[in-house]
Amino acid sequence: MMKLKFVIASGNKHKIAEIKAILQSELDCEIEVVSMKEAGFTEDIEENGSTFFENAYIKANALKNEAWFAIADDSGLSVDYLNGAPGVYSARFAGEPCNDKNNNDKLLELLKNVPSEKRTAHFVSAIVCIAPDGDCISAMGKCPGTILDSPRGTGGFGYDPLFYYEPLDKTFAQLTAEGKNSISHRAKSMHAFAGELKKYLKNFASLLKNHLEEHTDVNK
Ligand code: IMP
Repeated sequence: MMKLKFVIASGNKHKIAEIKAILQSELDCEIEVVSMKEAGFTEDIEENGSTFFENAYIKANALKNEAWFAIADDSGLSVDYLNGAPGVYSARFAGEPCNDKNNNDKLLELLKNVPSEKRTAHFVSAIVCIAPDGDCISAMGKCPGTILDSPRGTGGFGYDPLFYYEPLDKTFAQLTAEGKNSISHRAKSMHAFAGELKKYLKNFASLLKNHLEEHTDVNK
């Protein structure tokens, strides 16, 4: 049976475990999922793209190899009133020192006195995967919400305490991890990506098998 290896452009154990769980549940073949560090990549990859997709592509492309699938994701918050900001700058919105509190404070300041109907936003997640033969498989996921004027809840990370998700009448920080993972932008992009990957594997199974046998020992 074909064994597929996936290298993830992240050192975040939770993210890697989440990606592994989704791939395992969607694919009916043996898989190995490792971090970029475990695959021997120790240098930081500069994310200088102007879109989430571009940044994910830059990261996946830096890890591409004929023996494995290189997967990268990039995500962030896009606020309509701020013309899409913080966008690709979500992690470093308030500058140094980069932290969630400073980012949230800056967001609240920029939205001061803006009425709730104008505080619409969405989280975005882009996934790019470069297959062993160089093909690119990608997917996007979005989750709509509203930015509150003060934080609510203690869970999650990043902008979660300010991101109000109307269907559940809660901020992302008031949801359990499972609750958030069932509706989040990342859950949507990962499931869409798994669907695209399955189509790719179905169409190219025999070519891929030959390619992997030539270029790697992961099938042994
Ligand atoms: P990364 O793509 O995981 O590096 O995320 C970039 C930044 O976007 C994070 O540092 C957060 O500020 C923000 N972000 C991405 N996803 C989420 C989320 O699910 N909740 C809150 N903030 C997020």
